[in-house]
Amino acid sequence: MTSVSTPNILLVMAMHDEALPIIRKLGLKDMGYLSPSYTFEHYSGHFNGIQLNLIVNGKCKVFKVDQIGTQASTLTTHLGIETFNPSVVLNAGTAGGFRSDSAQVGDVYLSYPTANYHDRRINIPGFKEYGVGVHPTYSCLGMANDLGLRTGVVTTGNSLDYTEQDMATIKSYNGVVKDMEAAAIAWVAQQHNIPFLAIKSITDIVDGEKPTEEEFLENLHQASESLSKQVVRVLQWLTEGGV
Ligand code: SAH
Repeated sequence: MTSVSTPNILLVMAMHDEALPIIRKLGLKDMGYLSPSYTFEHYSGHFNGIQLNLIVNGKCKVFKVDQIGTQASTLTTHLGIETFNPSVVLNAGTAGGFRSDSAQVGDVYLSYPTANYHDRRINIPGFKEYGVGVHPTYSCLGMANDLGLRTGVVTTGNSLDYTEQDMATIKSYNGVVKDMEAAAIAWVAQQHNIPFLAIKSITDIVDGEKPTEEEFLENLHQASESLSKQVVRVLQWLTEGGV
């Protein structure tokens, strides 16, 4: 990808409350549901003359909560790519950080060099590596340096908490940003040969003292604000060809 020729950007997000500050800041228009069968929310607008489509995973029809996790994210990303043919796929969201990486609530990380899974344990030769599913991310070191953002391996699973085995897997590849979507979105982008980048704002410290769910809810607002600021800077960098 050459940043100057980026004609359209797809941004995928899991939670409505995480997306609100971005929708407001960028003045994105609510386009309704992306597809008649799903509650995937579509917002659209322009940034520096470049078309931007944001898809939010939407609410579960049964439990009325955000459809966080890999399942909905795979579908939103697929539909978004098929519909808009983007030149880059971004995933913005919140995540757990690690005290061992000196992460603090509100820090924003860019995914590099990969997004992996920590909860797909298949102890059969070949399948083990497939389970970890190492998906390359956009080579963002220049961007991270220009914007003063941290980088690291994003590690994805379908639980907010973790088991001892999850943690051992995370440590094995030095995962420093724990979320529930990035690797799934990276996988879909990879199938289409489209560069992928995750932008993750830390809401909780995984290896800290506080229970994750408490810390998450306490910090969601602050982390989402901080996320929206950095997403705008990333968009600026991408659309202006670097600062
Ligand atoms: N309890 C929350 C539910 C969402 S938390 C609520 O009621 O609003 C999980 C979401 O935040 C996921 O989309 C995930 O990507 C991200 N996340 C934040 N911290 C996380 C962590 N420590 N582990 C995994 N995902 C995390």
